[in-house]
Amino acid sequence: MSTSSSFPPVYTEPFHQASENLRRALPFINQHQTPVNPVNYAVWYEYVSGTNQALKKAIDSRLQQKQKITAEITQQLYEKYVLMGMPERLEATNNGLRLVVDNTMNQINKVELAADDFSEDLAVQQTRLEQSEDISVIKGVLSEILENTRRLGQSGNELKQELAETTQEILKLRSELEAVKQEAITDGLTGLLNRRYLNKELAELCHQGKNVFTLALFDLDNFKQVNDRFGHLLGDRVLQFFASLLKKHCENQQHIAARFGGEEMALIFIDTPSNIAMQIADTIRQQLAGSNLKKKDSTETIGAVTVSVGLSQYQPGDTTLNIIERADVALYESKAAGRNCITLR
Ligand code: GH3
Ligand code: MG
Ligand code: MG
Repeated sequence: MSTSSSFPPVYTEPFHQASENLRRALPFINQHQTPVNPVNYAVWYEYVSGTNQALKKAIDSRLQQKQKITAEITQQLYEKYVLMGMPERLEATNNGLRLVVDNTMNQINKVELAADDFSEDLAVQQTRLEQSEDISVIKGVLSEILENTRRLGQSGNELKQELAETTQEILKLRSELEAVKQEAITDGLTGLLNRRYLNKELAELCHQGKNVFTLALFDLDNFKQVNDRFGHLLGDRVLQFFASLLKKHCENQQHIAARFGGEEMALIFIDTPSNIAMQIADTIRQQLAGSNLKKKDSTETIGAVTVSVGLSQYQPGDTTLNIIERADVALYESKAAGRNCITLR
């Protein structure tokens, strides 16, 4: 299990894997003489775990050019690839909102002042009208009133236009916020929901405890070999292909497909007992095994890619941890049984 690209990041490696990552990260931190603080550690931890491919690419290209990865660069990498640029985007959206509110308030204040002036003028003009019988004075006062009314109308129109622009700006900010929200629950590589979302959904389903559901964990078999033989980019495409199989089986259903981490995916079969979930998960397994994937721009196949599956049906009283643990044990049994098979616990 490993990091899934989500904001905030979620780390799911078991103890031994996390310790191994620590052992491998420290030499990099020493070599580049950056202090061992959470930011530097997170960057090198994700680098050595090999699951944050975008971060790995950015660092590798610097290393190839024999550049030193200073604390400053690590901070930038952290914000861009670990926090996925979220602080910057949220800050920009926040500033946008502040500007919109300030502009609108200014405009409203202006119209309010114009209305105050208008009513003060009106009071004066009323007194002048009451006290005067001279037609030319009355005419003069009336034309002042007309002019003031025209100006007030103009301020009203300006406000209307400003509010129309503000509405457009707010709609833009709303869709940016929606995009940020969506990205925060989506895995960048596969477009599936991310681990954080999966955990939240499982916690909610367990908390409700009303309906039966089944969790399936999928772990691609010998995936390290696929990367070693055909490269990480092709590995990424295999992950995307497998994700598309999962998505297809969630269409028109409320099932939830998520990237559990690395080359592991999960599917929550909502309102579905394990016997039905088992049939669908096994169809997915067979579809991958029979998919005959090819190298890019080539007719050469990469051989069968297979997946092992572990399933577990919700039991009353289950917590997120229980149900994941049972599915994980089932998955381990599928691996032990020779891979490319499915086990229910
Ligand atoms: P097993 O059948 O026991 O699951 O063997 P495995 O090789 O799949 O398992 P292992 O945990 O040793 O290796 C998982 C590999 O998945 C290693 C890692 O580089 C690769 N991987 C994880 N995330 C990504 C990714 O985003 N892209 C690519 N291309 N590879 C990834
Ligand atoms: Mg794995
Ligand atoms: Mg695997």
